[in-house]
Amino acid sequence: MVIIDSHTHLGDFPLFNVKLNVDEMIKIMDEYGIGKSIAFSLPNKLTLDATRKYPNRIIGLLWVNPYSESDLNLIDEAIVKWKFKGIKLHPLLHAFLPDQEIVFPVMEKAKKYNVPVLFHCGHPPWSLPWHFSSLADYYPDVKIILGHMGHGHIVYINGAIEVAKRHDNIYLETSGMPMHSKIKEAANLIGAERIIYGSDMPFGHPAFEIMKVKVSGLDKRELELVLRENAIKLFNLNKH
Ligand SMILES: [Zn+2]
Repeated sequence: MVIIDSHTHLGDFPLFNVKLNVDEMIKIMDEYGIGKSIAFSLPNKLTLDATRKYPNRIIGLLWVNPYSESDLNLIDEAIVKWKFKGIKLHPLLHAFLPDQEIVFPVMEKAKKYNVPVLFHCGHPPWSLPWHFSSLADYYPDVKIILGHMGHGHIVYINGAIEVAKRHDNIYLETSGMPMHSKIKEAANLIGAERIIYGSDMPFGHPAFEIMKVKVSGLDKRELELVLRENAIKLFNLNKH
C-alpha cells in the first residue's frame, strides 16, 4: 500500500534544530513508501515551489494568518491557480481561538471551494480541542482536521476524540500524539474513516509515525483507510 502523509513541512527551523528541503523529503518518502505528502510551510512560496517541482508527490495547503487580509485574498489564487487542496491554520502561532469570528472568513472560503481546514491542535491557550466544537457547528459542511489530535497531553487527546465524536465534520490527524493505543480507541469511537496519518516532518519522522499507526491495533482495512484512503478522499487527490 502506498501511504499518504497528511502533515509535513519544508524549511529551516533553527528553534527546533531541524530543516528539510523538498529533495530530502522526497528521499524520505521513497524510503518509507509514501506516495504523496500534504505540505504546508511558511512562507507559502516554499510549498508552491515544492508542488511545482514534484506535482505528483507534494500537495500544498495554504498556511493562512486570519488577521492578514492579503493571506485571505491569496486563498482564491492558491486553490484555483496553484491547485492547493486545503488551508492550514495555526491558532497558537497567530493568537486566535478556533471559534473566534476572525476565523469565519477563512471558513467561508473553505466552504466555497469545498476544501478542508487543518488546524494545529493541542497547545493552550489557543488550540485546545474544545474550541473546535462550536466552529464545527457553525460550519457543518466544512471538514475540520485537528492536527496532532490533541498532541502530547492525555486530557487534550481525550478531548480531541470527544469533540470528533460529537461532530461528523471533525477529523483527527495522528502526528506528534504519543499514544498508539489512542488511535485504535478513536477508531472505535468515531470510525477509522475520520482518522488520517501524518508525520509532521521534519519535527517528526515517518519511521516512527507510521509504526505508531501500525501497532495501534487497527485491522487491515482500518490501516488502509488511515494510512491512505481517507486522505485521498479528504484532500480530493483522485483527480490529482
Ligand atoms: Zn506541523
